[in-house]
Amino acid sequence: MTEIERHAVDVVVIGAGGAGLRAAIEARARGMRTAVVCKSLFGKAHTVMAEGGIAAAMGNVNPHDNWQVHFRDTMRGGKFLNNWRMAELHAQEAPDRVWELETYGALFDRTEDGRISQRNFGGHEYPRLAHVGDRTGLELIRSLQQQVVALQQADFREFGDYEAGLRVFAECTVTDVLLDGGRVAGAFGYWRESGRFVLFEAPAVVLATGGIGKSFKVTSNSWEYTGDGHALALRSGARLINMEFVQFHPTGMVWPPSVKGILVTESVRGDGGVLRNAEGRRFMFDYIPEVFKEKYADNEAEADRWYTDPDHNRRPPELLPRDEVARAINAEVKAGRGSPHGGVFLDVSSRLPAAEIIRRLPSMHHQFRELADVDITREPMEVGPTCHYVMGGVEVDPDTAGSRVPGLFAAGEVAGGMHGSNRLGGNSLSDLLVFGRRAGLGAAAYVTSLGQDKPVVAMADVDQARQRALAPFGGSPADGPPENPYTLHVELQQVMNDLVGIIRRSDEMELAVKKLDELKRRARNVVVEGHRQYNPGWHLALDLGNMLLVSECVARAALERTESRGGHTRDDFPQMDPEWRRALLACELARGPAGAEAEVRVSRHVQPPLRPDLLALFDLAELQKYFLDDELTDHPRWQL
Ligand code: FAD
Repeated sequence: MTEIERHAVDVVVIGAGGAGLRAAIEARARGMRTAVVCKSLFGKAHTVMAEGGIAAAMGNVNPHDNWQVHFRDTMRGGKFLNNWRMAELHAQEAPDRVWELETYGALFDRTEDGRISQRNFGGHEYPRLAHVGDRTGLELIRSLQQQVVALQQADFREFGDYEAGLRVFAECTVTDVLLDGGRVAGAFGYWRESGRFVLFEAPAVVLATGGIGKSFKVTSNSWEYTGDGHALALRSGARLINMEFVQFHPTGMVWPPSVKGILVTESVRGDGGVLRNAEGRRFMFDYIPEVFKEKYADNEAEADRWYTDPDHNRRPPELLPRDEVARAINAEVKAGRGSPHGGVFLDVSSRLPAAEIIRRLPSMHHQFRELADVDITREPMEVGPTCHYVMGGVEVDPDTAGSRVPGLFAAGEVAGGMHGSNRLGGNSLSDLLVFGRRAGLGAAAYVTSLGQDKPVVAMADVDQARQRALAPFGGSPADGPPENPYTLHVELQQVMNDLVGIIRRSDEMELAVKKLDELKRRARNVVVEGHRQYNPGWHLALDLGNMLLVSECVARAALERTESRGGHTRDDFPQMDPEWRRALLACELARGPAGAEAEVRVSRHVQPPLRPDLLALFDLAELQKYFLDDELTDHPRWQL
């Protein structure tokens, strides 16, 4: 084998979004030599696209807010399938993580008395999202990067080398996590520009690779979100949970076709925007589910009063959790009451003065003017559901972010459990910081605990990773015609969109599983032209394997769960089913007989019971709408 570029570090963080950067900062602060590897340019992660804000119960705008209320909202939003320990840590630690960002140089919008301002968002009882206009993610990434640079400058002062403790490898894609006796030993990847291979020797890897949206045709996600971290985890022996839960954000652009799926932030509704159908009706009043009736206004007058007097009025139903709003829009369009281009109308122009819209929603104003020739200060937007976020991900220990593979950690969107069956808006940015930090801490503690007993990368494994990466250049395939990665990607997106999309049915998902099997077979025959220097066809060929694997997990888990809950809606099982109340589905790769390809297996597990002090935070009557009686006997009001 030819010489390969090698780097020996303590911790490799894969991903430079909010979770990855926060993990890297923590690992470096704990004395770990840390590498951050990212597939795109440094600073160009999904996190930078986040618009509305970061959820943290700071109580700046409504003093009634606190971590307990945030915890309750998060659990309700996830239909109580959340890993409650993660939801607890998240609600408790999010305010500190936001304040900490300001120590890194972030500057959030202010209240009149100078505190960090917070805005309303779906499913959050009080105004809770700290924000910077509708460009919050940009500020988050900017300040985390600034902290990275500050640490590098400190290293330069101490060691004469900016990269002594923390080095960034941008436009570098990891294709394999390498193991030694079941423990992490390193990671293997390639430079996107040169196509040259690179080896990281490290006992700990933090996955922070974000989501899977590129498996779907209509999505708010950009090109990098091909489920790489999910697939790396599976292939290393970790488990993915909750993969059936995919969030379709209710409001993506629907027109023109070239921009279909691009996000329209929930802040539009948080700041007063309303949804109307083609008949001009504010239809969300028709879709308030029984479990939310006490909290949401059932008439326009009360809903409108809520914006100025939230303590004495119920919230507008446009601010129901995302799964409810997405289903309602879908139903209106299906009933023939949609807008000309197959969405519904989202109107803020009749609700706020033009100058205020431009001040609060500058990106949305710009986005619609440039992309759709629509002036949102004068006319409504056309919007419809778009695949946005995956609740499912690597099963991790809530406190350390460690997976069941020693040395493998995961944080951010690639990790599962925190959001249960449905994520509330704003809870991702806070999740990234809370669990990114914990993953950095967890990885550092793990590496320290190893002492001299460090795993070693086997060169045979490196060679295998290299051969796997080079396979698409192999020439004529043995068992069928050569396949084009772009064609297969389009076909995959169509399958997931049509058969495992927002509304699901058994027969369609069975068909999806068959089609995915066929696509997997054809993907073995993918052939790419040219050489390794900047070759997007080759990059896609490698990403395709990850997308197919992760899509199979989504389809198989979705087929298994015979109920509707959160981001999983079934036409054939339209209700939540108590039978599934505490069931978690886990996907793993099971090796078949020697030589056969590993298969995705789905197994059912029981969610651990909610701790009694957390149970006591809810009204018994509310819990009885979801929980089984035997789960409630520890509630203080429970009487036999
Ligand atoms: P990302 O920020 O997605 O970063 C992933 C990183 O992994 C990237 O650096 C990528 O290059 C790298 N990577 C991936 N694969 C590989 C590989 N194989 N090798 C090397 N590197 C790899 N959430 C909120 O809470 N509030 C909001 O207002 C909000 N608005 C949003 C708006 C939009 C348009 C979108 C798309 C999402 C929004 N979200 C919001 C969701 C939130 O932004 C994401 O869930 C979150 O940013 C994910 O962060 P992350 O750190 O997990 O990963």
